[in-house]
Amino acid sequence: MPHHDVPPGAAPISELDAAWAQGAAGARHRAVRSAAERLRDRFAAGPRAVSVRTLPVVTSPYPTKHAFWGAALSVAPYVLFEHRCLVVQFLQRGELRTLLFNPTDVAGARATPYFARLAARVPQRVQGLLARELPSVPQQLAGLGLRVEDVDYVAFDHFHVQDLRPIVGTDDGLVKARYPNATLLAPRVEWDDWDDVHPLQRAWYVRDGKLGVQHSRVFLTSGDIALGDGVMLVRTPGHTSGNQTLFVNTDSGVWGTSENGTCADSWSPMDSDIAGLRAFCRRQDVDVVLNANTPERGADQYTSMVLERTLVDRVKRAPAFVQMFPSSEILASALSPGLKPTILHRAITHGDVATATGAGVLVAEGADVSAAV
Ligand SMILES: [Zn+2]
Repeated sequence: MPHHDVPPGAAPISELDAAWAQGAAGARHRAVRSAAERLRDRFAAGPRAVSVRTLPVVTSPYPTKHAFWGAALSVAPYVLFEHRCLVVQFLQRGELRTLLFNPTDVAGARATPYFARLAARVPQRVQGLLARELPSVPQQLAGLGLRVEDVDYVAFDHFHVQDLRPIVGTDDGLVKARYPNATLLAPRVEWDDWDDVHPLQRAWYVRDGKLGVQHSRVFLTSGDIALGDGVMLVRTPGHTSGNQTLFVNTDSGVWGTSENGTCADSWSPMDSDIAGLRAFCRRQDVDVVLNANTPERGADQYTSMVLERTLVDRVKRAPAFVQMFPSSEILASALSPGLKPTILHRAITHGDVATATGAGVLVAEGADVSAAV
């Protein structure tokens, strides 16, 4: 059995281990899909998370050819996406925990080689029209009644465009941690790859994004992780080596979030109204559309998207689509006529956010308070 590194209090998930270990890509694909069905049944029947909230982080233009794997029949070179952070609260062995998933540092992300070069080409005036000023993640947390000190975990679906230094702070003390009590959960395989990035991935990593970060604040993970009740981090390799998808069990069923696709259509292209997607899928005999800016492990990304589609529930108001929430979701925009997603998820909202009491202790209904006070 492969080695699992899970943080204290969490538990390893083994359902998918043997499937991913299959050597041949076709056999691996089928094995992952059927193992995902077993994991889905267990996860959906289990407890739910305490709360989920969605915080918009930034809007950005993105090449249409990457967003839809070259399948969309549009002359618009760019689409506009909104990148979001999820705040997830859950019980872990009876204690309340708060996870931030994708609290991307916007200033740091501008140093990503691809976006730095794009910014140099797009006139300032146009950039001003596209950039939406949004409150910072800490400001939005305050709006929910949460403090930066309340965050126990930070994780990202992958490390493209990330500068981790302002998130976890640096060992030399020059950069303070934005979330002083949080542990960053970082898949070991991508952590190591970041030190020696493949040329096909180089445009997407902030080169010094983890240089000198506080190692005491980083927990290197491997394998799939049940983080707590109704919350799991599952490997979905392909887009990057350590790509992972957050799954949460909520009152509206199971949701997943990743950047493997760019809108609901990516996981259900045969039901898409975007011109070109259906014809492309028929021609290629495929039934997902990759977010394809890093093509070198496309077969695994494809399998990962089928895994995601298997694990989540269908959208109740539009059952042809599934509850895969793109961490960067394409918006309807005048910039990209004909590329409006058939449905927009916009946000995941679940439960009541548990906020600090007078004693400064977060309390959720059903939480084991005695352990905390
Ligand atoms: Zn990426």
